[in-house]
Amino acid sequence: MEQRQLQDREMPGERERIHYGLSKRSDEDIAKLVKKAAMTMDGLKALTKIFPEEVMPPKQTIRCGRCDQEYDPQIPSDSVCREEHPEDKCKMMWDGSKKSWEHCRRCGKDFKLDGFHSWGKRKRDDPEDEGPYCYETVHVPMEEYDEDNDPIMLNLDDSDY
Ligand SMILES: [Zn+2]
Ligand SMILES: [Zn+2]
Repeated sequence: MEQRQLQDREMPGERERIHYGLSKRSDEDIAKLVKKAAMTMDGLKALTKIFPEEVMPPKQTIRCGRCDQEYDPQIPSDSVCREEHPEDKCKMMWDGSKKSWEHCRRCGKDFKLDGFHSWGKRKRDDPEDEGPYCYETVHVPMEEYDEDNDPIMLNLDDSDY
């Protein structure tokens, strides 16, 4: 028998009720309800059925050799390796009195453009907004990391001058 028919017979209306309830709540609300359910024995039992280890593996963090952050390599969204431009390496630049932007000496990028037209009309020498990070890539486990041969770090100027 098809799952759906089985559900309709054994649990009439429940599938629709749950679907309706989920569609009417925000992801945040749903996450709250799930976390609350995990606080009771019955709730936890139900959740381990919904989220077995294949779906939610136990925490297993390692440290990134580049940025020194802890991350879980099993979780795709956890693998982003990036660093914001350090404040002490950034300088406010001006073009006239209305156009300004920040320049990061460490990576050479321009960002936080202010006073430039967002549409068309770029002048040849106008800076481009290159985003808030010196670099953005994926973490490398500490043991595999070779600092002296990391092209990303070699591109950054960490000297004090
Ligand atoms: Zn930077
Ligand atoms: Zn990293």
